[in-house]
Amino acid sequence: MAESSNSSLSGSSVSSDPEDYQPPIWKSYLYQLQQEAPRPKRITCPQEMESRPKYYGREFHGMISREYADELLVGAEGAYLIRESQRQPGTHTLALRFGHQTLNYRLFYDGKHFVGEKRFESVHDLVTDALITLYIETKAAEYIAKMTTNPIYEHLGYTSLLKDKMVHRLSRGRTEPRRVTFQREERISSPLVQRTALKDTPEKQCFYEKIHNFKVHTFRGPHWCEYCANFMWGLIAQGVRCSDCGLNVHKQCSKLVPSDCQPDLRRIKKVYSCDLTTLVKAHNTTRPMVVDMCIREIELRGMNSEGLYRVSGFSEHVEEVRLAFDRDGDKADISASAYADINIIAGALKLYLRDLPIPVITFDLYSKFIQSAKLPNAESRLEAIHESLLQLPPAHYETLRYLMAHLKRVTQLAKDNLMSSENLGIVYGPTLMQPPEQNALITLNDMRQQKLVVQLMIEHEDVLF
Ligand SMILES: [Zn+2]
Ligand SMILES: [Zn+2]
Repeated sequence: MAESSNSSLSGSSVSSDPEDYQPPIWKSYLYQLQQEAPRPKRITCPQEMESRPKYYGREFHGMISREYADELLVGAEGAYLIRESQRQPGTHTLALRFGHQTLNYRLFYDGKHFVGEKRFESVHDLVTDALITLYIETKAAEYIAKMTTNPIYEHLGYTSLLKDKMVHRLSRGRTEPRRVTFQREERISSPLVQRTALKDTPEKQCFYEKIHNFKVHTFRGPHWCEYCANFMWGLIAQGVRCSDCGLNVHKQCSKLVPSDCQPDLRRIKKVYSCDLTTLVKAHNTTRPMVVDMCIREIELRGMNSEGLYRVSGFSEHVEEVRLAFDRDGDKADISASAYADINIIAGALKLYLRDLPIPVITFDLYSKFIQSAKLPNAESRLEAIHESLLQLPPAHYETLRYLMAHLKRVTQLAKDNLMSSENLGIVYGPTLMQPPEQNALITLNDMRQQKLVVQLMIEHEDVLF
């Protein structure tokens, strides 16, 4: 379904001009239903029950039979009471009248009240939400099943009208990494071809796909789904919200929303420790600005520095650079006047890469890279690494490609800086590659391969990328 709705984006029917923007028509049917849903009616017990837990009120009737509870509730939609189970003393049952029958739910309390996933402050809230949900899901079952078939999503630049968001949404695409075959003539021509191609790419464009970061959310006041335009019913946890871009949708709609999250800078609080794709989408760059800025600075004044990337900068200063990036983003001052020692900048770059929640070489591709390095034949080793590289998320791939080209240039000055590709492999292996589960033994065993992968990527960056 998401596939077919995506395809219409390339058509001319959708205009990217904000002037033509038509506000969405929110569908009110489910909202009306929620207003019509029966309200809770608490049926209280005439006498004080000694067995009443302190977190229940007079709606607690003690150990009465199912049949008697039925009699007490009959005739009033939304009527409810709590009884202690006769079969399992000590456990409690919520008896609720809905659809002219009594429904019985095992009721739990652990500081909050619940019968299913949602947790409530009070039994009254729980019953209110249950009645809304029961009412809407019975009355509008067919409507709900169909509500995602004609999403308004692509006609809508979220709820806001920001032009760049609209353009982004409409010109969705992805830069595919080049496929390279390992034939001799390709190998000779590819570096030159690639350098020209790089120049032609506008640096400030990025079309990476990013999945939304949906979390269950409780909306205050009525809210409508930004995917299907329908009301999000219920009292709490009515839907999900993307914590990176703020998109609000039904839980069932969240599975159909395309991977086109455009993170909002106001929601992305940090630069370090932020997911790589999220950061570049938020800043609309091809690579993380930390990588570009540090490499630019190092190429400007540090390429001959002995032990570049091996010698550590003073860690308090490295930490200062991290704070500057987190606070000022691309306005951070990392010039020679701020930090004369280039090892501080090199350290800040390594720290950025090491602190990524998902390393540049992602957890799920980690073992593929390690296995590639174990192949005995040099040609097939390169081919396997190349295959794995193509599976990296595009923003990770671009970052790695840029970094390897830079490290290659570092090795070309090895007579001054004493950094060979092997030395850089030792430094960058564990920075770029971390096993999915932190295990000292695995890490130790894989060190040789980590080093080799990075070393090979530097030496063969012209053909691998
Ligand atoms: Zn999002
Ligand atoms: Zn929806």
